[in-house]
Amino acid sequence: MIKKYTDFDLSARNTFRMKVRCALYVEVTEEVGFPALDWAALPQPILVLGGGSNLLFTADYPGTVLHLAIRTAPQLHEEKPGEVLVTVGAGVVFDDFCAWAAGEGLWGPENLSLIPGECGASAVQNIGAYGVEVKDILADIRAWDRLESRFVHIAPASCAYGYRRSNFKTAWKGRYIITAVTYRLSRDPRPVLDYGGVRKALEEKGVSTYPEISGHPRPDKREGPAAEGSGRGRSEAEAISGYVLTPQLLRETIIGIRRAKLPDPAEVGSAGSFFCNPVISREHFHRIEAIARADNGPDYRVPHYDTPDGIKVPAAWMIDQCGFKGKRLGGAQVYQNQPLVIVNESGSATPEDILGLERQVIAAVSAKYAIILRPEVEHI
Ligand SMILES: Cc1cc2nc3c(=O)[nH]c(=O)nc-3n(C[C@H](O)[C@H](O)[C@H](O)COP(=O)(O)OP(=O)(O)OC[C@H]3O[C@@H](n4cnc5c(N)ncnc54)[C@H](O)[C@@H]3O)c2cc1C
Repeated sequence: MIKKYTDFDLSARNTFRMKVRCALYVEVTEEVGFPALDWAALPQPILVLGGGSNLLFTADYPGTVLHLAIRTAPQLHEEKPGEVLVTVGAGVVFDDFCAWAAGEGLWGPENLSLIPGECGASAVQNIGAYGVEVKDILADIRAWDRLESRFVHIAPASCAYGYRRSNFKTAWKGRYIITAVTYRLSRDPRPVLDYGGVRKALEEKGVSTYPEISGHPRPDKREGPAAEGSGRGRSEAEAISGYVLTPQLLRETIIGIRRAKLPDPAEVGSAGSFFCNPVISREHFHRIEAIARADNGPDYRVPHYDTPDGIKVPAAWMIDQCGFKGKRLGGAQVYQNQPLVIVNESGSATPEDILGLERQVIAAVSAKYAIILRPEVEHI
């Protein structure tokens, strides 16, 4: 089914809550709607919208905003040892899928819990958090090919996935409209725990995270608080562990960590991380270390991660070091708990407020560290 609305208010369709309108808003609820769409007759250009959680509308949109509201619930359609294939409609909220998977005891998306947005966009964005990227669990992408006017299946291997990157955002921009995504999950435990304090948070809850028992319920262990005397005959470390790791427990832990740091889109407008974390050369990193030690003392350690492409330095750290944490411009603010995020703090920030703050951050980081921050948020 296709619904059309002219001069449509988009303020509830973007998590930044920009008060903008589009000439035409089209909602497609079933795949069969595509062949019937007269693309040439739609106001141009055409923007495919998911949950609007990675976009900044910088002005009214002159063309058509097309929302995929295909909400086919997760369908488990193939299971073999070590692999469970599940297909989900593009318009399903990604976190609803994560909740479903955890409820079924299926491993795969738990570290991506609470990322806003829809399943279709997950494959565009290669969403990632806490050491997992969606490319790690993608099996197939079904899409309407606007160039050839037909449905196609796209193999994730052909999507050139990288850090928040894919062909959907570059070479294929505007060509494919994703209608369904198939994820490869597993009943075998495969927890990823060594990012962003996940293991520590689990251990504080009394969850066993030791590799030899992680996720493997032992006969004398059960999910939930430890049975009395369950520590007998084990190492001290195991004895203090009260819970066995499950996808559900890992999901709840990730949600707890995220809630402490990130703004809830239901309460304050934002599009999550506004900037990408830059990857730089070792020489450049040493120059940054020297600046940081001059600022913070000779023993100061700059947070960083080694990657195959170079050294990744958290943009949040740089923004903080430049004194931007909590800084306001009009109704916009660099988020106090996580300076990588720009928020619509007043609820009535304009695109100009956000863009102005963005420019100030980029200029300050560039002047101090000779790094041009690249926005993660797509500017429309
Ligand atoms: C508070 C907050 C926290 C966040 N945390 C994270 C995080 O931890 N990790 C992370 O990776 N991201 C994070 N994000 C960013 C955002 O949630 C993701 O990028 C998400 O995938 C965007 O999904 P969406 O449905 O809202 O897509 P939109 O923002 O609507 O669209 C994003 C892009 O995908 C395209 N698109 C959307 N649907 C389709 C489709 N069906 N077919 C073809 N193209 C499509 C759009 O045209 C656009 O180019 C966060 C955002 C917020 C607000």
